[in-house]
Amino acid sequence: MGNIAFIGLGNMGNPMAANLVKAGLSVSGFDLVQDNLDEARSAGVTIADSGRQAVEGAGIVITMLPAGAHVVSVYSELVPAADPGTLFIDCSTIDVESARRAHKLAADHQMLSVDAPVSGGVGGAAAGTLTFMAGGSKEAFEQAEPILDPMAGRIVHCGDAAAGQAAKICNNMILGISMIGVGEAFVLAEKLGLSHQALFDVASTSSGQCWSINTYCPVPGPVPTSPANNDYKPGFAAALMLKDLKLAQEAAQSSGAVTPLGASAMQLYALFNAAGGEATDFSGIINFLRGQVKKDE
Ligand code: NAD
Repeated sequence: MGNIAFIGLGNMGNPMAANLVKAGLSVSGFDLVQDNLDEARSAGVTIADSGRQAVEGAGIVITMLPAGAHVVSVYSELVPAADPGTLFIDCSTIDVESARRAHKLAADHQMLSVDAPVSGGVGGAAAGTLTFMAGGSKEAFEQAEPILDPMAGRIVHCGDAAAGQAAKICNNMILGISMIGVGEAFVLAEKLGLSHQALFDVASTSSGQCWSINTYCPVPGPVPTSPANNDYKPGFAAALMLKDLKLAQEAAQSSGAVTPLGASAMQLYALFNAAGGEATDFSGIINFLRGQVKKDE
């Protein structure tokens, strides 16, 4: 296994790179933000002066960047600069089209590549328990799997190029829709005089059960570990849910899929974000449904 270049040492990238170092791997990192570089250095990452310097002599390049445009731009610069045979792994959550472009840039230079977006958030990144949804050839996946392992609880090979991004946005579209559904049910229950605990006890063991109620219940009490018990601190911020729902809608439009509930969920999360909810956990949309979020809060 060669040295690893890690590009994008933000909220997710920093703890992920730290887990690679803890596993005994040699990691050279680069980010545009000095504080992020300082944090990475203190975790044992060797800091490079540029992305190009980070990939020099690296057999593996991992990217963890905000959006598709960043990934395509970084690949355009770094793929031609990398040693022949370098494996590229993009862990960012990005649109399917950009993921395909990144794979093509790698393939045009005879490099193997994997898209490997994650779920599990900052907590999972720190604990090394992320779920990776990987897309790419069998050969590329087999090379990527042992590198992802120190950062992972679970690694699923979803199919060819961009299949990981497809799995991620389909999963998060289900999550966004189901959280709104669960929130609406609790708001209706309140109006009908039904207690939160009674609805939880019934729905969590009946046909209404789902992750949004059983594990991440959006009202305080029934599931003590859910963000509702911690003033809706993320967790998974509503801004990131909106990003993923927009990616799902872009993919639905370009592929011709009919996703009316996904479209409605995107609109509701856009309104919730605009009303001041963007830094709140996405389960806080229940407060928006009750009309409790104000711009100045
Ligand atoms: P972040 O903004 O904290 O980190 C991104 C980092 O990329 C920043 O530090 C930025 O400076 C750096 N960067 C941007 N352009 C660069 C360039 N050209 N060269 C080097 N560095 C560059 O974001 P994050 O929360 O770490 O999320 C990263 C990705 O992971 C996103 O695609 C996000 O959707 C996805 N994700 C985040 C979470 C979460 O809970 N934060 C969960 C799952 C997936």
